[in-house]
Amino acid sequence: MYCDPDPKRENATLVMLVRNYEVDDALASMRQIEDRFNKRFRYPWVFLNDEEFTEDFKRLTTGMASGDTYYGQVPAEEWTWPEHIDREHAHERMRQMEADEVIYGGSLTYRHMCRYNSGFFFRHDLLNMFDFYWRVEPSVEFYCDMLYDPFKFMKDNGKKYSFVIAMPEYPLTIPTLWETTQEFARKYPQHIAPDNAVDFIVDGGRGLDGEFNSCHFWSNFEIGDLNFFRSEAYLKYFEFLDQAGGFYYERWGDAPVHSLAAALLLRKDEIHHFADVGYKHSPWMRCPSDDESHFSGRCLCNRHESFDEHVYSCLPRWFKISGRSAGSMPYHGDRY
Ligand code: GDP
Ligand code: MN
Repeated sequence: MYCDPDPKRENATLVMLVRNYEVDDALASMRQIEDRFNKRFRYPWVFLNDEEFTEDFKRLTTGMASGDTYYGQVPAEEWTWPEHIDREHAHERMRQMEADEVIYGGSLTYRHMCRYNSGFFFRHDLLNMFDFYWRVEPSVEFYCDMLYDPFKFMKDNGKKYSFVIAMPEYPLTIPTLWETTQEFARKYPQHIAPDNAVDFIVDGGRGLDGEFNSCHFWSNFEIGDLNFFRSEAYLKYFEFLDQAGGFYYERWGDAPVHSLAAALLLRKDEIHHFADVGYKHSPWMRCPSDDESHFSGRCLCNRHESFDEHVYSCLPRWFKISGRSAGSMPYHGDRY
């Protein structure tokens, strides 16, 4: 039994949307988060699934967790197409995207999942009681110790959304996402934040009138403020996108949706890049670039293989607009 004193916890939880058959991959992710971070904090875990969790899944994941575990089912009406979607047209579009070899182009459940992560997870009964979440997926890797509490860091510094990897989205999945977002911004200018991060998603200083450069925060890792997603601005934005139908007629991912929302509805100083986190979600990994993170975090990753170095990384754009550079590390709070 690990016996560091239990530091004070924030009102926060780890959360994983996952299928029963992914249990081994879920355990692998948990093991790393627990050993690298959570065993010192014992934050709870919330597991969500469109089906009922098996007893085996619950038993094994509870065994791996240092904190309490909660298991929830997604309400059936949140894991299906809304009434207004023309299913025949959507099926036709899916067949076309599959023929065009768009990743998950022909998958209906993938679309349900993206829509759920875009519009519903944060208001599930089990998440309603929390302020902050950390999204974890099966089979991800955490390469470094996290010795401080990232939830406390977010709260103390007024951060509402965070990421580790940023890259361009595959354009064929989002042909009309940007124009729909521009329409929203024109219709509801009161929801667009002053001093937002539009320069991260539009090049050349053209703001909302410019073209989307497809840069998005990779949402398989996220630490965020649930109250942002439950805000009127975000809910209105999701509702607007949902009405437009692109979750089904195209294949809008929750990553570009969260990213566009964060970039436009938040101030840029409310978005944080966790430069000290080493992380992999296949096929990409990133590794802290500075020595201090490596030594104090006992990282097990090669910084020369980091996605940050890849020509597709959108991180340089982030550094440019946020005034940070690759080596500069903010003070993250006390270490435990
Ligand atoms: P990718 O990362 O875009 O390749 O998509 P994933 O297959 O990793 O799915 C994203 C997240 O949603 C992961 O946490 C999956 O476990 C979860 N997920 C995807 N599809 C389903 C599904 O049909 N049911 C459930 N319960 N979870 C799903
Ligand atoms: Mn994934």
